[in-house]
Amino acid sequence: MLLLDPFTLFISNALLHLALMLALAIISRLAPDILAIRLWMRGHGLMALAIVLMAVMALLSPEARPPLKLLIGGLLMSALLLMLAGLRHFFGLRPLPLALRVGYVLALLGLAGLMQWSPDVPLAGVWQASVLIVLLLGCGHVLWRQRGHLRPIVLLACLASLGGMTLGLCGRLSLLVYSIFLGEQGLQWRQLSDVLGLMVAMIGGISMAMSFWLLISDRMLHTLRRMAEEDPLTGVLNRRGFQRATARMLANQPGRVAVLMLDVDHFKRINDNYGHAAGDQVLRCMGDALRDALLASDIFARLGGEEFCVVLGELDERNAEAIGERIRQRFQRKTGLLSQAEGCTLSIGMAMGTPPVDSLAELMARADLALYHSKAEGRDQLSVYADG
Ligand code: GH3
Ligand code: MG
Ligand code: MG
Repeated sequence: MLLLDPFTLFISNALLHLALMLALAIISRLAPDILAIRLWMRGHGLMALAIVLMAVMALLSPEARPPLKLLIGGLLMSALLLMLAGLRHFFGLRPLPLALRVGYVLALLGLAGLMQWSPDVPLAGVWQASVLIVLLLGCGHVLWRQRGHLRPIVLLACLASLGGMTLGLCGRLSLLVYSIFLGEQGLQWRQLSDVLGLMVAMIGGISMAMSFWLLISDRMLHTLRRMAEEDPLTGVLNRRGFQRATARMLANQPGRVAVLMLDVDHFKRINDNYGHAAGDQVLRCMGDALRDALLASDIFARLGGEEFCVVLGELDERNAEAIGERIRQRFQRKTGLLSQAEGCTLSIGMAMGTPPVDSLAELMARADLALYHSKAEGRDQLSVYADG
């Protein structure tokens, strides 16, 4: 049977972390605004360095090893600290708050103290594994707190990889403690714990980098979707986003829905009298009025120009009408505060129906007819479509 010698294991492990570091360096160039990637990249770099030093240490005489051992321990702790700091930064938290800095210094001092105090009993190894476990739990805690912002599958994959590493390190810790109890006879268990540590570094390194990659691609997908489906001027959905949101809503069989078409009155005049920038400001007010008057779960979009559409589910006509009135009043109030004097008004047309008996396109056409009615009746009002 061919067994790998420790030196080969060390070198392949170090090369792996180097490759992960390079992969993250490339991703960092593609997404330079995500600073966390650079922290993760450095974390893998430190891991690679620590493992190379492990290989060097294996070549040294036992007396010459302690300083290198301390350096390796410090590098491993720093590597995981950078992973945690990167994760915190990724989610908009301060990467290295005071508590983490103090904890890090204490962890290093503890490591140095234990090496000095008991060079023959692997208490420093126990300490080091415990610190690494705490750092991994810290990463898990950050992810768990951000669970609302992550898709369940991404959260699950990241927690599973962290959980696997934590379990591996707990195994190493148990083997080390057991070897301490066995005393002289514990050497074999100590060696086994070292092999387990290397396995955790190797498999955990890959799974951690995969988790980072998942987080980055999930964030990029989210950003791309927002760019594709959001109107940059008002911050509400654009027509593409509207189509996707309504398709999802209708697939869930919402029952009776209300469709409202909204159009700013005499908007062309605002552009002509006060300039395009003032017109844009009025449109922003419309976005604010919609966000104020509606819930985030309601569907509201800018379909083009100064025309907006709102789709509300599970409401009776009176409530839907009241919401339409609320939007109209808020818009008027908000535009009244703008510098270009008089407030703008809004005309609204509303139609009620039950998809799929009434298609969304039909309901929008009916709401449009009601909107024309509002315009014809002198604007600044809401009309409800009535059959016949
Ligand atoms: P009505 O009361 O009948 O709705 O009249 P209106 O002037 O509001 O309607 P009309 O359709 O004649 O004018 C819409 C104007 O909206 C024309 C176009 O230049 C302007 N517009 C479209 N998109 C934008 C935009 O993004 N910013 C600004 N400032 N104006 C826009
Ligand atoms: Mg108009
Ligand atoms: Mg119009």
